Amino acid sequence: MSSLALKNIYKIYDGDVTAVNNFNLDIEDKEFIIFVGPSGCGKSTTLRMIAGLEEISKGDLFIGDKLVTDVEPKDRDIAMVFQNYALYPHMSVYDNMAFALKLRKVPKEEIDTKIKEAAKILDIESLLDRKPKALSGGQRQRVALGRAIVRQPKVFLMDEPLSNLDAKLRVQMRTEITKLHKKLGTTFIYVTHDQTEAMTMGTRIVVMNKGVVQQVDTPQNIYNYPK
Ligand code: ADP
Ligand code: ADP
Repeated sequence: MSSLALKNIYKIYDGDVTAVNNFNLDIEDKEFIIFVGPSGCGKSTTLRMIAGLEEISKGDLFIGDKLVTDVEPKDRDIAMVFQNYALYPHMSVYDNMAFALKLRKVPKEEIDTKIKEAAKILDIESLLDRKPKALSGGQRQRVALGRAIVRQPKVFLMDEPLSNLDAKLRVQMRTEITKLHKKLGTTFIYVTHDQTEAMTMGTRIVVMNKGVVQQVDTPQNIYNYPK
């Protein structure tokens, strides 16, 4: 079944800036979709509309067979990881990971189990009592991923999650996110302007320019290299 469908989606800011211009895409379960393109081409805006952080000016977004406007953002089964991680600075890693679950009234024991499982997958078990300021960039990135994983969303959205890491850590996290995608078996949508990330991680790539989708294809076909 298609997990997400965008039909004739537009975003028009302030009445005249067309940030996203007639975006159409069907995304199947378990795909790893990458939005790639130059700065300002509308990648983030598209992702934020899917997340419910930005209103859709025109068009229809479906999650499964449900029209998104019928589903509250918090009930959309979608989690997003931000470029700046957006961790709550005054909360421990554990409480950062627990926060969204508490909001949804998940029982304490279940929250605890989920956090410990996610911490194990991400190798942050020893960091649960720390505050974000006592973490390295890579560790913060893992916590941000952990906070999304515990919600067991059907769709994971990531907006340039590696852009604040140094080159070496970026390469390492690329591999880890690819593994995570395989392990979780959920749909990933990932925004980047980095071609190497697009090439190595995506199952399908959406190339955008000036709000318009230029091409949708496998990395092999887009970057023209043998499988
Ligand atoms: P990308 O993620 O590809 O860098 P964005 O989606 O952030 O691009 O931006 C797409 C276009 O929309 C750009 O022209 C940007 O200036 C414009 N834009 C983004 N957010 C706003 C906003 N809140 N108000 C007005 N214009 C915006
Ligand atoms: P959800 O809404 O999915 O439960 P969160 O509760 O983690 O996710 O985040 C809600 C909103 O608050 C998001 O838009 C996020 O960017 C923002 N946010 C999260 N952490 C912080 C922070 N430390 N400072 C400011 N904003 C934050």
